[in-house]
Amino acid sequence: MNRSPIDLAELDLAELEPALEARGVERFHARQLYRWIYKHGVTDIDRMSDLSRTLRETVKTDFTVTTPRTVGDERSLDGTRKFVLELADGKRIEAVFIPDTPSMTFCISTQVGCAMSCGFCLTGKMGLVRNLTAGEIAGQVRVLAAATGLLDHPFNIVLMGMGEPLHNYENTMKALRMLHAEHGLAVSPRRVTLSTVGIVPGLERLAREPLMPNLAVSLHATTDEQRTALVPPNRKYPLAAILDACRRFPLKKRSRITFEYVLLDGVNDTPEDARRLVKLLADIKAKVNLIPLNPAPGIPYERPSDERVDRFAQILADRHITVSVRKSRGRDIRAACGQLIVEGGTKKSAAQQMALLMR
Ligand code: SAH
Repeated sequence: MNRSPIDLAELDLAELEPALEARGVERFHARQLYRWIYKHGVTDIDRMSDLSRTLRETVKTDFTVTTPRTVGDERSLDGTRKFVLELADGKRIEAVFIPDTPSMTFCISTQVGCAMSCGFCLTGKMGLVRNLTAGEIAGQVRVLAAATGLLDHPFNIVLMGMGEPLHNYENTMKALRMLHAEHGLAVSPRRVTLSTVGIVPGLERLAREPLMPNLAVSLHATTDEQRTALVPPNRKYPLAAILDACRRFPLKKRSRITFEYVLLDGVNDTPEDARRLVKLLADIKAKVNLIPLNPAPGIPYERPSDERVDRFAQILADRHITVSVRKSRGRDIRAACGQLIVEGGTKKSAAQQMALLMR
């Protein structure tokens, strides 16, 4: 019988074990395969030296292992590395390695493009091309960990690359399960941060997950009018609904929700904005991460001066809100927040882009 091979990279352990059993292979070999693929970064079945020759042959006939292919690896002066990865269907995504922040961090994509169309984000200008599969999401981590020599070292993962993770919920959570498997990379959910525009049903689902990552919410504005203009999904999930979901979100001891706030010069960076932000977060276990805009061609906003950024941060700090200012990393190679867009990808036409900008 001719069955098309199954992609091992798309299976979590709970799926791999019965898939092996159905082919007459004992379940415990699933852990061995996971160890090779995730822990040792080996995807060539012939190199899995503790599997018997017969077993390797069976596995080779019935399974493949698909891994995103590195087609670009640019290094920034500050040590940041931007990887351009090509998927099996030729689509490209970007993933970024940020060293010493103070830990090692991989910034991973969850979609090709993004449907959220935030007014200051380049990825948003691409529109959504497609969701990434769980194997493609976890595959980025495999590729980056191998390329940076970190397969055996702890690292953090931030789901802050291209795409909206809660708009690709199932695959994102499955990827986290695959990365968490103890015989593989064993990534603790405490080392993972999921960043979202705030899709309320997704937040509610996430609140019930057994493997719960840290949560970051992209707020960016303090009134619904302004937030809808900057982050269009706000029309459907306005500030009050998002903040309510945050209040209900189960937090571990000492942990807090991070609120990201992109500072746009003269738009959302005034002292009144800062004071409104303090009020909005008053009864939430929150910390704020300010992100001075990373400007890009086609983005109709400016980065505020350091003085404006400091003044905004000071108002929060004076009201006892923990605040940090995100250092921009990798801007010289366009690897910074909101600068991920694959050149030559499915771009919107100039007219469509203008329409987006004029809204
Ligand atoms: N879709 C998710 C994750 C993607 S981006 C989310 O919206 O949270 C991670 C962060 O970078 C978000 O807070 C996003 O708003 C921010 N960002 C997007 N474009 C930016 C830009 N040009 N400059 C600075 N930050 C930007």
